Amino acid sequence: MHEPDAHTRELMLENETLRSRMAYLLEQAERNHSIMTRHQAFDLKIVGASTFQELVTTIFQTLPVISELDIVTLSLVDPEADIYTVMHKLGVDYEELPHLSFCEHASELGFPHIEGRRPRPVLGPYAPSRHKAMFPHPPEGLQSVALVPLLRNTRLIGSLNLGSSDPNRFTPALGTDFIEHMGSIIAICLENVISNEMLKFIGLTDSLTGVYNRRYIDRRLVEEIARARRQDYRISVMYIDIDHFKQVNDTVGHQAGDEVLREVAQRIKAELRISDALARFGGEEFVVLLIDADLESASAVADRIRASVEAQPVDVAAGEHVSVTVSIGVATLDDFERDHAIEGVAQELVAQADTALYRAKSTGRNRVVSLS
Ligand code: GH3
Ligand code: MG
Ligand code: MG
Repeated sequence: MHEPDAHTRELMLENETLRSRMAYLLEQAERNHSIMTRHQAFDLKIVGASTFQELVTTIFQTLPVISELDIVTLSLVDPEADIYTVMHKLGVDYEELPHLSFCEHASELGFPHIEGRRPRPVLGPYAPSRHKAMFPHPPEGLQSVALVPLLRNTRLIGSLNLGSSDPNRFTPALGTDFIEHMGSIIAICLENVISNEMLKFIGLTDSLTGVYNRRYIDRRLVEEIARARRQDYRISVMYIDIDHFKQVNDTVGHQAGDEVLREVAQRIKAELRISDALARFGGEEFVVLLIDADLESASAVADRIRASVEAQPVDVAAGEHVSVTVSIGVATLDDFERDHAIEGVAQELVAQADTALYRAKSTGRNRVVSLS
């Protein structure tokens, strides 16, 4: 064997370089493939989320893992706090979602406003003073961030904020196609889930007074009875009916009557705890579900409501003052009903409160009758 000539040596070297380059590309391709697969699984998961809570929890829990990020937060534009309020009423626990925030104006999100141009992702070093609103609880050592606009058509509905402890992870020179794509899927999912939740909420509330409707109380009552049995506390129900309401309509008109209904609903609500539920059952009748209240304490609340309605006439838009009173029947869940089917128990409880109300009416109105 003789030594390879210069030309062969050169070829061998080139061959080696090519091989290692191939290996590198292959490794990159495999890595990209694995990232794509993880992201496809994430996309499917968020598209399938049926509630707001499920969607945002998935984003906060899964995205940092698959994208190897140190923090992911979400800021939503919510000018009238409608989203915040409805999600809260539907049971979203914000304490469990520290990386979710709401802002009044899209301008608070930190995207430069250029007339006629849609906002683009902003990538760069983390600056505590500038990024405080997007990262209210930043992790130790946060170095670079990407603020991704969430757009529906041209409307900015929020911002997805990604943070890394790697200073080179997000730099202004980096391409943004991938995160823009991710932002657009998340924006669609968010809008979809929010409008579904809003519709659900509208289906459970009374449009005139803004309190819950009968469907809500029927459902909630069944849930609460099951829970009260497990955790051993008392629940009580109040049936409230405005006295001689027909006369109110006849004297001041139906529109003023509506205003009276709204005001009575507010006065009832003012006497309740957050855990209690108030619904308009139809006409001038309201039902209240009191959690962890026995007959005695429920009757005390009922009497405060009765007194508060009687105390002040209602000022209606027509400039008139309308004096109204309410009659209230109160009933409580009995221990001996433990073995009965929950739906039957729920109906029976409301029926008992209605019977008590009937007695309050027949014994003179503007009074509370408790059925023990
Ligand atoms: P009672 O003291 O026995 O309860 O007498 P009442 O007149 O309140 O009882 P009744 O059930 O006979 O009348 C209820 C009235 O409530 C009849 C209807 O005109 C009025 N009402 C029902 N729904 C509405 C509503 O949405 N708006 C207004 N303004 N009035 C309503
Ligand atoms: Mg009535
Ligand atoms: Mg009435």
